[in-house]
Amino acid sequence: MELLYRSTRSDQRRVRASEAILKGLAEDGGLFVPESVPVLDRSLRELSGMSYQDTAYEVMKLFLTDFTEEELRGCIERAYDSKFDTGVIAPLHYADGAYFLELYHGATIAFKDMALSILPHLMTTAARKNHVTDEIVILTATSGDTGKAALAGFAGVPGTKIIVFYPKDGVSSIQEKQMVTQKGDNAWVVGIRGNFDDAQNGVKEIFGDTYLADVMRQAGLRFSSANSINIGRLVPQIVYYVYACAKLLKAGRIEDGQTVNVVVPTGNFGNILAAYYAKLAGAPIGKLICASNENKVLYDFFQTGDYDRNREFILTASPSMDILISSNLERLIYRIAGNDPVRTAGLMKDLAEKGTYTITPEMKERLADFAGGYATQERAALVIRRLYEQDRYVIDPHTAVAAAVYEDYRAASGDDAACVIASTASPYKFPRSVMEAMGEACGGMADFDLIERLSELSRTPVPRAIEEIRTAPVLHTRVCGRDEMKKAVEEILGLS
Ligand SMILES: *Cc1c(COP(=O)(O)O)cnc(C)c1O
Repeated sequence: MELLYRSTRSDQRRVRASEAILKGLAEDGGLFVPESVPVLDRSLRELSGMSYQDTAYEVMKLFLTDFTEEELRGCIERAYDSKFDTGVIAPLHYADGAYFLELYHGATIAFKDMALSILPHLMTTAARKNHVTDEIVILTATSGDTGKAALAGFAGVPGTKIIVFYPKDGVSSIQEKQMVTQKGDNAWVVGIRGNFDDAQNGVKEIFGDTYLADVMRQAGLRFSSANSINIGRLVPQIVYYVYACAKLLKAGRIEDGQTVNVVVPTGNFGNILAAYYAKLAGAPIGKLICASNENKVLYDFFQTGDYDRNREFILTASPSMDILISSNLERLIYRIAGNDPVRTAGLMKDLAEKGTYTITPEMKERLADFAGGYATQERAALVIRRLYEQDRYVIDPHTAVAAAVYEDYRAASGDDAACVIASTASPYKFPRSVMEAMGEACGGMADFDLIERLSELSRTPVPRAIEEIRTAPVLHTRVCGRDEMKKAVEEILGLS
C-alpha cells in the first residue's frame, strides 16, 4: 500500500515520499506528515536479531513506500558504513539506572549524523525517481553542528553540491576547524561577517529569489535544504528507537509486552517526534520525556498548553537546544488537533504573528504520552560529574540535561520502567564545559590539550573526527559580508 504525505496546514495535493523529500516544505508553508502512521510488520523479537542496517530497512520501507527495496538498501548501505566508528552504529551504554543510546558514532560525533549521512542518498534517489536531472544544491546556514554534519553527508555525493554559511565569529574554534577543513570538490564553506540570524536570513533570501531560481534552472541546478523538517531526516531517526527497544528485548532487559521510557534532549523537536512515531508504529515505548535546558518553552507548553516564544533567549552550555521555536512540534500539534490542517494553520499563524498560541483542553489531553522537564546548566554539570565519579562514564552537556530530567521524572513519578536516554553528542565535542563539570582545572589549556586529558580521564580513545582536524589543512577561507552571500553563491556555482 502506498503511503502518501500531506501538509499540516491545508488540504492541498498529497505527495509520495520521494516528492516530499525533494520539496522539504509543503507549498503552503506546512510540514509533510504521513496520512497515517504505518505499523511495523515484524515482531520486536524478529527485529531483535537484526543489524542496524536491516532494522533501518524494516522501518524505512514502511514510511518511504515509493522507494524500491534495492534503492532503500543502497541508501542504507552507503550511509551506515565505516564512517561510523562502531559496527552496531548506535550502541547502548548502561549507567546509573538508564541506557544511554549513543547516537554520536558517526562522522561528526553528534546525532545529526544519524540522518544527514543518509539524506543525500535519499535525495539523489528521489531526484532520479522523479526524473529530476538538475544537480541539487544544498544551501545551509549553521550555528555549528548541522553545517558540519551536512557537509560530511553531502561531500563527494554525485549529483549534489553543498554550500554552508556560518557566522565567522559565532561558532567554537573546534566547530570552525571542523568545517573549514572539509574535503570534497562539491563542498564550499563561507564565513559571514555577521551573526547566525544574518546567515539564516541571507539563505532564506537566496531561496526566495525567483530570478536566481530561473538562472539556476537554465544551468541545470536547483536549490534544496537539509533542514530538520525534511521527512528524509525524520524517518531515519525513527530507526534507532525501534533498534534500542529490540536490543533491550534481546538482552532480556525487557520482556515481551513491557515498555521502555525514552528521554530526549530537545531543541527543534525532531528527535523526540521520531521517538513518538516509533511508538505509533508499534515500538514498545511508554513515556516520551522531553528534556529542555533554560530555554524551557517546551516544558512550559507541556505544563500549561500555552506555547510562548516571547521570552529572553538564553545562551547555555547545550547550544543545540537553545531554541525558542521548535519547528517539528507542528507535526504533533496537527495530530492532537485531530489531523485538522485548518486548526493547525490557525495556531501557526498565531505563533508567527503573536509569538504564542494556546491549545484546547481536549488537545492537551492527547499529550498524555509526553512528560516535560528541564534542567539548568549547573544541574546538568552536577550530573556529568556524578556519572563520571560513579561510573567513569562521561556524557556531553546536552545528554546531561536529559539525564537530569530523567532523575527528576523518576523521583516524582516512581516510574522505574527501563529507560533509554538519547545521547546526542560526544563529550569530545564540548571538552571545555565537560571537563569543567568534571571538576578539572582547565583555565588556559588549549583545546587539544583538553582533549588529551579528557581521553585519559574517560579512558576512551580520541574520536577520529577530532584526530583528523588536528592536522588537517584549512581548505576554505572565503569570508563575505552579510549582503554578499548571493554573490558568493553565484561565483561558486559559476553563474556570474
Ligand atoms: C540538534 C541537537 C539536539 C536537538 O535535537 P532536535 O531534534 O532539534 O530536538 C540535541 N542535542 C544535540 C547535540 C544536537 O545536535
